[in-house]
Amino acid sequence: MRKEKRGGNRMRLSLPALSVNEGVARAAVAAFCAQCDPSATELADIKCAVSEAVTNCIVHAYRERRGEISITVRLIEGGVRIAIRDRGCGIPDVRLAREPLFTTDAAGERSGMGFTVMESFMDRLSVRSKRGKGTLVILTKYIGREGGV
Ligand code: ATP
Ligand code: MG
Repeated sequence: MRKEKRGGNRMRLSLPALSVNEGVARAAVAAFCAQCDPSATELADIKCAVSEAVTNCIVHAYRERRGEISITVRLIEGGVRIAIRDRGCGIPDVRLAREPLFTTDAAGERSGMGFTVMESFMDRLSVRSKRGKGTLVILTKYIGREGGV
């Protein structure tokens, strides 16, 4: 079979902020990423990071209210880039929010480890946010570098 040029391949998804869609997003992103032939560990890392970012949109950005989560996945040189955007409440202090164990959850159900998980399972994490406007989380993962530097 002729080797297809996949550069520029991308997927866009828009999902309502419902908890059931955390699993939908995770499975859809994993299906798209499969074309890069990730290892089981790399795929598990991606799914876990997507899960954390999408859960944050549902529980923090919209606080169980209606809202839309937009997800774009792109093939980049040597890997994938996943952008997850909400139009929710925004994060007043991103630096603080990214600290391990920082959480605004008063009910004590959250551990404040979502961003730390995203950061450690992915190669790069970028978070941009504006109060009242929403948040954009960009996750980058290089595929096939396991064991490398
Ligand atoms: P855990 O992810 O361990 O269940 P957590 O969600 O509180 O706990 P993080 O995912 O690290 O921890 O997020 C830290 C804090 O950043 C959250 O408590 C919340 O205040 C804020 N935050 C994260 N994502 C968003 C978002 N999309 N919109 C608004 N606030 C957010
Ligand atoms: Mg979280």
